[in-house]
Amino acid sequence: MNLRAYSGYFRDNAKLLASSSGGGATALSEAVIRQGGLVFGACYSPDFRTAEFACAENIADLDKLKGSKYIPTEKRIFHDGEYKPLWPVVAEKLQSGRLVLFTGLGCDVAALKSYIASKGISADNLFTADLICYGPVIHEVHAQYIDSLERKYKSRITSFTARRKIQGWTPSYIFAEFESGQKFCERLYGTDYGAAFKAYSRECCYQCQFKGASHVSDITLGDFWGLTPEMDGYNPGGVSVFLVHNENGERLMRMIDAQEFHISPADPEFVIAHNSKYHTCMKKPADYASFLDDLKTIGLHAAMVKRSGGILRYYARKYIPRRISRLLKAILK
Ligand SMILES: Cc1cc2nc3c(=O)[nH]c(=O)nc-3n(C[C@H](O)[C@H](O)[C@H](O)COP(=O)(O)OP(=O)(O)OC[C@H]3O[C@@H](n4cnc5c(N)ncnc54)[C@H](O)[C@@H]3O)c2cc1C
Ligand code: SF4
Repeated sequence: MNLRAYSGYFRDNAKLLASSSGGGATALSEAVIRQGGLVFGACYSPDFRTAEFACAENIADLDKLKGSKYIPTEKRIFHDGEYKPLWPVVAEKLQSGRLVLFTGLGCDVAALKSYIASKGISADNLFTADLICYGPVIHEVHAQYIDSLERKYKSRITSFTARRKIQGWTPSYIFAEFESGQKFCERLYGTDYGAAFKAYSRECCYQCQFKGASHVSDITLGDFWGLTPEMDGYNPGGVSVFLVHNENGERLMRMIDAQEFHISPADPEFVIAHNSKYHTCMKKPADYASFLDDLKTIGLHAAMVKRSGGILRYYARKYIPRRISRLLKAILK
């Protein structure tokens, strides 16, 4: 089947704002749950320092899967009162005969498929959706950032997201809430976290094997970048894009409740042209090894200040809006 594309978003604004893009992953998940199936997806660990998997059996369970976790997941799941390796739990649910939707990154879907094939388990009840993947930031960046917030606010984090919608779909904000009731909110790309996310991923992500025609899922989901307000299908609260690879993916798309979720056909070439990470990897920065060293020795904040060229430039970049900073540079030239 040729690649097909759709765009979509939740019609209900509160539901739309709870998801990272248009809520496409949640719409697919709700569809499978309504058919009596269950959904595996990524959530933060209780201390927010790592990400892991959870299994949603009902619509309310989907809340913790919503939102992009920009870190690699541990392949474990809290199931029946204890942590277990992920793949055997997914396999067990598949063998029980229920419909299963697995949502993850491209390499997660490939690992699941290879596990069930190695055990001779049928994939007839399995739907898979992966995300267009820039590459998650290395885990130590995230863990140090959470540590620094908890130190600063002298309280434990009770919720965290790097994709809070404050003014709508973009820009993304980091938003955290604390036991003390305090809240933290800052533009993602003005933080050390956002700056590190742009460049520092795992070695394997700079040579990802699951791009372009090598996606192995039924559907690849992402942000519909390139869509502008005057174009059909735009929503200021966020729009998802679905790239459908096979008939199983089409079957899953037809299960979405169109009363709740607005879907329109899209041009796959346009989608891919505006989302380079569908087919290309991020480039490994020249200072990768020294960044890893700095993370260990001087910590995330000092490592990012050093890479900005000193404290003055660091704060100028953080607080002077990009447009004004470009204008200042042009005047100084
Ligand atoms: C590391 C990373 C890099 C990304 N890079 C891009 C990009 O370059 N371009 C682009 O268009 N989109 C990218 N995305 C996807 C985008 O951020 C949204 O996650 C995606 O569009 C789904 O949004 P939604 O509104 O449909 O999902 P929501 O309703 O918000 O649900 C989120 C879904 O994402 C899954 N998920 C979240 N974090 C992870 C994770 N770490 N590992 C596995 N599954 C996870 C959950 O299981 C859930 O199904 C990236 C996501 C991640 C996690
Ligand atoms: S870039 Fe590729 S290898 Fe890295 S997390 Fe994404 S899908 Fe997996």
